[in-house]
Amino acid sequence: QVGYVAEVLRKETIGSSLRPREASVYKHQAGNVLVIAGSSGKLGAALLTARAAMRTGAGLVTICTWADTARAMESRVVELMTTSIDPARIAASLDGALAGRRAVAIGPGLGLDERARAAVDHVVLGWDGLKVVDADALTHFVGRPEALATARGSLIMTPHSGELGRLLGRSARAVEEDRFGAVREAVALTRAIVVLKGARTVIALPDGRMFICMAGNPALATAGSGDVLTGMIAALLCSMDPSAAASAGVLIHALAGDVWRAQTGSDRGLLAGEIAELVPGLIAALA
Ligand code: AMP
Ligand code: MG
Repeated sequence: QVGYVAEVLRKETIGSSLRPREASVYKHQAGNVLVIAGSSGKLGAALLTARAAMRTGAGLVTICTWADTARAMESRVVELMTTSIDPARIAASLDGALAGRRAVAIGPGLGLDERARAAVDHVVLGWDGLKVVDADALTHFVGRPEALATARGSLIMTPHSGELGRLLGRSARAVEEDRFGAVREAVALTRAIVVLKGARTVIALPDGRMFICMAGNPALATAGSGDVLTGMIAALLCSMDPSAAASAGVLIHALAGDVWRAQTGSDRGLLAGEIAELVPGLIAALA
């Protein structure tokens, strides 16, 4: 049995990476995030990710999705912009949408079809920027996780145990039985920062360091909760380095669950969108 060392994520450490905003900040400087997410029947995933990025302080957030989805989204979105992916010109439409972005969140509700795979490959492997890869975008790498090691730019992956299990060719239960071992193996295969979600989320870095989050509670086990985390990390990538953004996102998300429990006395009933609403107050308390 191998012994693993993981550092506990601390509020003080996270607080020191949260810099106050410049008084004269302009929205583009506060972070320009592209959320590539959503498909018919899964608009919510894209909206949750994008709204979480805004609540975390991104100045400008655009949802990039399929034309039919973008149309349906427009009636629901006020502060966000939308742009659509043309299935006949996937690479060109994505390149247009990516221009000038500081960070990208890709995957929530995006779909598992061929067009989604082409979009994911183009962005995850080809775009030379800061990326959070989650949900359906991870599933496109099942059977070829090592392809992620060839990605340009900088990757943070945010699988839950089922998603990580599929990538490593084993069950979610097997991942749960050896969370540290599984996350280490994923880093070795992909050279990415890997965030293994669930109670006591583990973050593993390519340099071998590991962090564990002791905050959070079952209130966070709710639909869309992971999509919110993805948007939060994408926004944080605009103002700090990738390992700090992953750590800060995970701890603040978990603390939001703890605020809910303290306010209501309950570890159930939290809606994913409400996690994001708690973020500004938590950042102010930590910074
Ligand atoms: P997802 O499964 O993608 O929706 O992500 C769920 C999110 O909620 C992740 O950030 C998990 O770490 C968190 N989460 C889920 N269940 C628990 C739990 N029992 N305790 C603490 N955090 C949890
Ligand atoms: Mg998820």
